[in-house]
Amino acid sequence: MYIELVKYPDVFLRKVSKDVPFPLDDKTERLTKFMLRAMYQHHGIGLAAVQVGYDLRMFVMDCSRGGDKPKVFINPEIAQKSDETLCDNEGCLSAPGKTGEVRRHLRIILKYQNQDGKEEKKTFYDLEARCIQHEMDHLDGKLCIDYEKGNYSREKHKSQTMVESDFRIKSDS
Ligand SMILES: [Zn+2]
Repeated sequence: MYIELVKYPDVFLRKVSKDVPFPLDDKTERLTKFMLRAMYQHHGIGLAAVQVGYDLRMFVMDCSRGGDKPKVFINPEIAQKSDETLCDNEGCLSAPGKTGEVRRHLRIILKYQNQDGKEEKKTFYDLEARCIQHEMDHLDGKLCIDYEKGNYSREKHKSQTMVESDFRIKSDS
């Protein structure tokens, strides 16, 4: 079954998502599985609930090479950010063909709840840290392409970490 994503410029993507109540009901349990399926089907490494039509504060992520390490983050909050930042290009499954150059923190500590409602606190680096900051933006109605202020500088050769889209495909070839 092909899963259709909510795409830019749909105003639904601008919604500020709501907290997820615990214990998770069946519908939300099913939604986490649906989000993972949508992410893998579109060759993504991250996907927020708002991208499949639910304004809930949760996202899924799998930055592993094999695409076999699914992670679910519910009611996430960034507890700490590194001073070191890096500017890089990001793509978004909800904005195919577009990229945004975004400065992100290299390391973050994320507080979130797992599917049992248990509070977790973990440190993430590099691609995972970037992906999480991208997904956190989705929860607040923000897109990576918003950072690009209309002046696309395509001629420059930059390193390109495609967040969300194409990353796995590119790294395989
Ligand atoms: Zn995105």
